[in-house]
Amino acid sequence: MAAATASTSRLLRCSYDALRPRATSSGLILPLSSLLSRALPTLLKSPYSRFSRQITHVVDEEAAARAAAAHAESGGSTIFDKIISKEIPSTIVYEDDKVLAFRDINPQAPVHVLVIPKRRDGLTELGKAEPRHEEILGQLVYAAKVVAEKEGISEGFRVVINSGASASQSVYHLHLHVLGGRQMKWPPG
Ligand code: AMP
Repeated sequence: MAAATASTSRLLRCSYDALRPRATSSGLILPLSSLLSRALPTLLKSPYSRFSRQITHVVDEEAAARAAAAHAESGGSTIFDKIISKEIPSTIVYEDDKVLAFRDINPQAPVHVLVIPKRRDGLTELGKAEPRHEEILGQLVYAAKVVAEKEGISEGFRVVINSGASASQSVYHLHLHVLGGRQMKWPPG
């Protein structure tokens, strides 16, 4: 507890020092570089800082999204191909000849199911959809509704498609996230 208090007060002192305006030959300034170079390392190091964990998570997520997008350009297979071929296990919630729905390995809500086309056919992301994909896109959205019914969340659920690196898409095989079982907030992060 004493260590936590000392660390917190060091953190506050450093943040205050970084924010404090300083006199220089060119006048009174509050340089952003000073804030970043002095406060950020302390904030990131503090084991008590939720801020530090959030920054690290965001940086990791963005880096992973950029790496996945670069890989997608090669048109290579993804983890979802192995799920479709049952090479790796998943908890399947719904399946027909065109669509597979399975539980997300890292659920963001009590119900979190991914709905994917069994044949990717160029649909690495929604942004790559073409007129020939209209039918499968409709089937995927309808399957999302069927999944919501099966999961008992049809009174309120959310369907999300992340498309591209800036939406933090991490698997380049089109998929719909079906989320529910808790109150959803808006705007999303
Ligand atoms: P996105 O970030 O929109 O591309 O979503 C990809 C989703 O796939 C994430 O929510 C991951 O948790 C999920 N995911 C990745 N690997 C697996 C897996 N082996 N089984 C189930 N879900 C997975």
